[in-house]
Amino acid sequence: MRVEEISTRVNGMMARAWDDLETLVAYRSVAGGGQFPPEECDKAAEAVARMFASEGFADVRLVETSDGSKAVLGHRPGPPGSPTVLLYSHYDVQPPLDEGAWQTPPWALTERDGRWYGRGAADCKGNIVMQLTALRALADDLRVGVKFVSEGSEEQSTGGLAALVRRRPDLFQADAVIVCDTGNAEIGLPTATTDLRGALHVTMTVSALSSPVHCGTFGGPTPDPLNALIAMLAPLHSADGDTTIPGIEDTGEWGGVAYPEERYRRDAKLLPGVALAGTGAIADMLWARHALTVVGIDCPGVAVSAPAVQGSVRARLNVRVPHGSDVDVVWQALRKHLESSAPWNVEVRFDEVKRSQPFRSRTDGPAYALLAASMEQAFGRAMTTAGQGGSIPVCVALQESLPDAEIVLIGVEEPRCLIHAPNESVDPSEIERMALALALFLAGGAGGRTTDTTGE
Ligand SMILES: [Zn+2]
Repeated sequence: MRVEEISTRVNGMMARAWDDLETLVAYRSVAGGGQFPPEECDKAAEAVARMFASEGFADVRLVETSDGSKAVLGHRPGPPGSPTVLLYSHYDVQPPLDEGAWQTPPWALTERDGRWYGRGAADCKGNIVMQLTALRALADDLRVGVKFVSEGSEEQSTGGLAALVRRRPDLFQADAVIVCDTGNAEIGLPTATTDLRGALHVTMTVSALSSPVHCGTFGGPTPDPLNALIAMLAPLHSADGDTTIPGIEDTGEWGGVAYPEERYRRDAKLLPGVALAGTGAIADMLWARHALTVVGIDCPGVAVSAPAVQGSVRARLNVRVPHGSDVDVVWQALRKHLESSAPWNVEVRFDEVKRSQPFRSRTDGPAYALLAASMEQAFGRAMTTAGQGGSIPVCVALQESLPDAEIVLIGVEEPRCLIHAPNESVDPSEIERMALALALFLAGGAGGRTTDTTGE
């Protein structure tokens, strides 16, 4: 098939892409946490299953994983001897956070200024729709085998799918794995993500008293666990804002695309006049170095506070870990620092420690080369590479369990999507061009043994 023909077919599928995305966004498929009924995840999984089943996947099924989430799996075999491509996505989403901060309802796909808004519109339901659009455009002209897996608990980092991959690698066996959960470095600039930082999540509790006491009566000699926590956390950043975990070297430099400051400031929504933290280039700090963030602290909120010294406080820390660093070593170093720096002999307890190692993909194989060519055809520009600060734990499991498969990360989640934040959105032109790139990749034989014509 010629490029123009596939492009026309993809374009003709965009109204359906809206319909499917509208259906998927309506499910409040936040896994775990108890904020939304678990049936919402089940309904989203069943909708994904139905959508792929109607594209020729005969054996679509839901498989329960070790964390209780359900992965949707399917296989559409290709002609004998043809290669197999595994398409990855996830149907669970982040909670909407502050619903009042949304300009449109988070669970109703809404078009505004040419973008489609809704929780999961980009991450990752937009990628599910992108995959479906590519498959629909090829229809019966698909000459490779395709497997797909849509995960039900990516955002919670509970590892159910990663465990299933390790236990049943046969289900996922493929020549190429296209992980559709990232995006282009900017709209219209085709980008493969080659590096994912690993992640360490730790919840810690600091206790000094068996219950809160009045700070008028007791304030002074009473060890305040919140002060202790602040003292323990403060040394983890330098005055410049670099992450400084004692014992962890942090001088990495990123070798791919640069992240221009002006765009970064816009993407990250920095207020005018506020300086960037840290001392490296932006891409170095985002993709080649560690970053520690205190993502939550439990102590009374201002509105409900009383004049009291708290008995105990809790904090959740999140450390992003770049390629070349080991998340277990980082955890040991962090733990050693926190335990040894606790003042007044306060009690420190850690729980909910979750770890995922950093990932780097191969870029020297035939699937990567064909994908780069397909992206260039779809966008009219050469493909570049970027890293991603966030982790996708299943990538490491796939890399370890399918050592011969090439894994490439692409998707519709460009920076303006504001994934995980209020007002998440997707640019439909990114869905369309990414679907075209994926369709060209599949039509071109996925870099495997069979070949098809890929147009001019
Ligand atoms: Zn995602």
